[in-house]
Amino acid sequence: MLCQSNEELNEYVKEAKRYTVKGKVADYIPALAKANPNDLSIAIHYPDGSCISAGDIEKKITLQSISKVISLALVLMDRGPEYVFERVGMEPTGDPFNSMIKLETLAPSKPLNPMINAGALVVTQMIKGADVEEKFERLLSFIRELADDPKITYNEEVARSEFETTYLNRSLCYFLKQHGAINGEIEELIDLYTKQCAVEMNCLDLARIGVVFAMDGIDPMSGKQIMPANVARICKTFMVTCGMYNASGEFAIKIGIPAKSGVSGGIMGAVPGRFGIGIFGPALDEKGNSIAGIKLLELLSKKYKLSMF
Ligand code: GLU
Repeated sequence: MLCQSNEELNEYVKEAKRYTVKGKVADYIPALAKANPNDLSIAIHYPDGSCISAGDIEKKITLQSISKVISLALVLMDRGPEYVFERVGMEPTGDPFNSMIKLETLAPSKPLNPMINAGALVVTQMIKGADVEEKFERLLSFIRELADDPKITYNEEVARSEFETTYLNRSLCYFLKQHGAINGEIEELIDLYTKQCAVEMNCLDLARIGVVFAMDGIDPMSGKQIMPANVARICKTFMVTCGMYNASGEFAIKIGIPAKSGVSGGIMGAVPGRFGIGIFGPALDEKGNSIAGIKLLELLSKKYKLSMF
């Protein structure tokens, strides 16, 4: 067992919170700039349904890149790994999440992995459904099932803010379309992708989704297999190799758990066979990870020997 109580966890939050001053909230999506850089909260969800938390856990965050793990899981179920990995690779890039460079030099028609934006856009395109609305509804119901929270929805302001300003993602799409990796309407894909990134929840929901990945796709509370074990395994592997942007190697060495971060300052962790973690700390380091969130995980990993390696 990790921390036994909210009080104990709160001590770690207090210590890690000191690092928020060294970070900066993301502002390239204008609506995200409104976040409070001093926030830090965490929830840990155990398979027996118990939960501990610290910080203002009622605050909601948008998933941003954390959603890439969930859309990947859905698409792996929709299409099967063979179809998916003919269109997106399995290798980390070592580049920032929105970089174009390796698309041009290495893989113009097959982004290197599903955690970078180019790969995630190709994955989102593979979600089954007649139109954007149906595709998004399917993704949303999957997220609601994982979190066991039928009220989860998306933040319209954040979605609109990104939709109106995401020139870089549009250029990735145009590049990919030129090379045959994207074939539909780009504006529709951007609409779906920005809504996916703007799905909003609190740390408890995030930790609950984490525990399903941690338990090989089984919702430990209901016993239901929500996704095949193989799908959960593939997702966790990507979380280890490229879930924390181009800081994934350092994160694997210092913390050693499957985790995915987003530019909203969220981190979802899935400690195999043990528990799920949801963190919210919007002040980011230079790679785009929650600066205090990483510190918090580092403290917990050291103290409770969380590393799987
Ligand atoms: N919606 C964001 C983007 O595409 C997600 C980036 C992230 O969280 O890493 O720029």
